[in-house]
Amino acid sequence: CGIFGFVAPQPLPASLVIDALRTLEYRGYDSWGIAFLDGDLARERIAVLKRAGRIPASTPNLPATVIALGHTRWATHGGVTDENAHPHLDCTGTLAIVHNGIIENYLPLRRALERSGHRFRSSTDSEIFAHLLEDTIASIEEHHPSASDDIPTLVEAVRHAFNQVRGLNALIALHRPTRQLVAVKSTSPLVLGHGPAGTFVASDAVALVGYTDRIHYLQDDEIALLDHQGLQLFDRCTGQRRSARWEPLTLR
Ligand code: GLU
Repeated sequence: CGIFGFVAPQPLPASLVIDALRTLEYRGYDSWGIAFLDGDLARERIAVLKRAGRIPASTPNLPATVIALGHTRWATHGGVTDENAHPHLDCTGTLAIVHNGIIENYLPLRRALERSGHRFRSSTDSEIFAHLLEDTIASIEEHHPSASDDIPTLVEAVRHAFNQVRGLNALIALHRPTRQLVAVKSTSPLVLGHGPAGTFVASDAVALVGYTDRIHYLQDDEIALLDHQGLQLFDRCTGQRRSARWEPLTLR
């Protein structure tokens, strides 16, 4: 329902995501959650904090981090439980994803992933995207180990994985090894911004106020790659680079 994420050159408090999710509360939600990179270089992991129910009135004290992602959920598939709250991880803890919308063909995708050994922790439609992306990245790395410099592996993997899902969706993945966020969508809105504190993505421009004064609305035929240096856009069909159409941040 509500989405907010950042990649920052200097660590920012992970709790900043929770504050941003509060600005999106007006959309309604039944669960909330965040994922962020935690620990020192040798033992980095994706930490997840997610709960059914309301965001607590006092923001929990969380470490600073260079990359984080959060979500407020309005359940469509799977009950309102802690496990079903987003973000969802892949099997290896390399990826965390958040999702708005409905993956209409999630059941056959889930069955196929389970047959190839994936273990699911939730009963949502959303979790399949974490596993699908995990498999797609692995297969690109296996078959094209020196993938083209022009199209980063993560973007290539999202192109393939998103082509397999049906419905009106917005999906963001946090990728631990590259410290990147990748965003893709069909109809469901996503807005991007870059400022001195970092690069940001949200489901509504209201969450970006204070971080940037110009924004780019992600298009359905684009994939966005966010890292500590900024934003890169790719054509979802050809994989070619595109440029952002910046506009001033005004609340619609
Ligand atoms: N279909 C997903 C779920 O039930 C996402 C719902 C949403 O847009 O918040 O978890």
